[in-house]
Amino acid sequence: MIIRDFSGFIENVESNFIPVVSSRFSQEEYIEIDLSEDNHRLDVIDVSSSKAFEIYINRYLKENNASIAYGGYNEIRGIYRRSTHFNQENPETERNIHLGLDVWCDANTSVLAPLDGKIHSFKNNTGFGDYGPTIILEHTIHDIVFYTLYGHLSIASIANIRIGEKIKQGQEIAVLGDASVNGDYAPHLHFQVIKDLQGNIGDYPGVSNRNDIEFYLQNCPDPNLLLKI
Ligand SMILES: [Zn+2]
Repeated sequence: MIIRDFSGFIENVESNFIPVVSSRFSQEEYIEIDLSEDNHRLDVIDVSSSKAFEIYINRYLKENNASIAYGGYNEIRGIYRRSTHFNQENPETERNIHLGLDVWCDANTSVLAPLDGKIHSFKNNTGFGDYGPTIILEHTIHDIVFYTLYGHLSIASIANIRIGEKIKQGQEIAVLGDASVNGDYAPHLHFQVIKDLQGNIGDYPGVSNRNDIEFYLQNCPDPNLLLKI
């Protein structure tokens, strides 16, 4: 089956909110957070410090009486300039457009499979600013195969799993890592929906440059179309 509208397909997989982290957070406890370069409150934060970033997020949650923050799809971010992993020397190829949905909460928070599937692959992507421990699930729904990626996990999350292992919707598949293992970020889940993995194993770009963005936005639709936070 050829799908012309993968985003539309993803949007129609489920009709209600699906938690991708601990179900102790109700939908009402989530708040959207703006981490784009247009948020000038970030100008005074030392974004090279995962700790300073964590303090910013916790303050934002407190101010808004929320427990968990999410957002970032198709967001142009300044925070990647701290790492050469993102080619910041050339404006054409600088990777600063975020392709996943980030969910900001404490280290060790459980990560839940939003859908039935199986483990496609996993890997510790160890570079500074990279994902750290990462899992990719494969899903087949109405004969359509697609993938979901979970980045910034704990080391233990990938220690005792195997490729092909069946996963049930709502099952805990991992817990979040802290800055010492997750690429040096404030703890958060990077969740991304991917149609074509392009041969990647345990890894897939989570950030794009301007030149490639059209392809990536097609191949990786807004994860919140699925989750409905
Ligand atoms: Zn992310």
